[in-house]
Amino acid sequence: MGLGAVLCLWFPAVLTTPELREIYDMALIRALIKLGLLTAFLLGVASLLLKRRKALGLTGIALSGVATLLGGSQVEVATPVARSSHVGLDWFLLNLLILATVFVPLEQLLARWPAQGVLRPGWRTDLAHFAVSHLLVQVTVLLTMAPAALLFRWAVSPAIQGRVAAQPAALQFVAILCVADLAQYWVHRAFHRVPALWRFHEIHHSSPALDWLASSRLHLVDIVVTRALSFVPLYVLGFAPGPTYAYLVFVSFQTIFIHANVRLAFGPLRWVIATPEYHHWHHSAQDEAVDKNFAVHLPVIDRLFGTFHLPPRWPERYGVTGAPVPDGYLAQLTYPFRTRRSRATRPA
Ligand SMILES: [Zn+2]
Ligand SMILES: [Zn+2]
Repeated sequence: MGLGAVLCLWFPAVLTTPELREIYDMALIRALIKLGLLTAFLLGVASLLLKRRKALGLTGIALSGVATLLGGSQVEVATPVARSSHVGLDWFLLNLLILATVFVPLEQLLARWPAQGVLRPGWRTDLAHFAVSHLLVQVTVLLTMAPAALLFRWAVSPAIQGRVAAQPAALQFVAILCVADLAQYWVHRAFHRVPALWRFHEIHHSSPALDWLASSRLHLVDIVVTRALSFVPLYVLGFAPGPTYAYLVFVSFQTIFIHANVRLAFGPLRWVIATPEYHHWHHSAQDEAVDKNFAVHLPVIDRLFGTFHLPPRWPERYGVTGAPVPDGYLAQLTYPFRTRRSRATRPA
């Protein structure tokens, strides 16, 4: 992360997000980079001394060394920064920093699977999914918003949009939750039921271990199609920007949280809002859980359409049956396009 941040200082036009550049507190960013590089070096030395396998420690020392040689936290940023096509390296690093800071300790304290560990099998693949989807944020945001504006402009009624946007913000937020999850439900269900679509969504279900990072294991087609179609009703109804942004923050947190390796008890709330227990059943490889719990926010939608499954215990295993989906980012990216073999996997 420290090396990535130093590269962002060197090449801000192509590696950072213009909207974020405007709000950075550079003193804080530089302090974070300094702290990160120092921590990486010290932990690398500790790992080298204490661990039998040296690769991780050496990598930490080497990367922090390269970042320091490149100027570390003191690299001057040439201003003004030109606007250009960019990848969101800063967006990726910020998300990784915040989410790892929240979820790694939480999963250590409240693990559903205590023996799983942070660097469990498949973490590199999932980190690659996480990295690519964040680096391509400019593209995915565009592809998410464009279809609604291009194909559904005819459905927009200024009178209805005016009335929707005039409602209290909290009411709009709840309405967005319902409308977006309802759309997401049917798109998600189609990804399970239509064989050609399942080839894409199968990637998401292929992880044998669940934690916050496993939520990122999604094919780009899956991400763009699901988000774009869930966005259509929000576009047509014309919710106000405030509740819409609040929803975007909420949905990005909840989709990660419901995958987390945490055994939190939610009491009666577990019937109202999707929890890790609820979505872990969606990923279960047990017969009883095939094609269940499609909702991301509201279990009541699954109840309504007969796909609800929440017994008073946790699932025992995750993944898909049949021939395994290949590991590795590129293998998973090309997987849906390769010649179909004579098999069909299901979530169980
Ligand atoms: Zn699914
Ligand atoms: Zn999932």
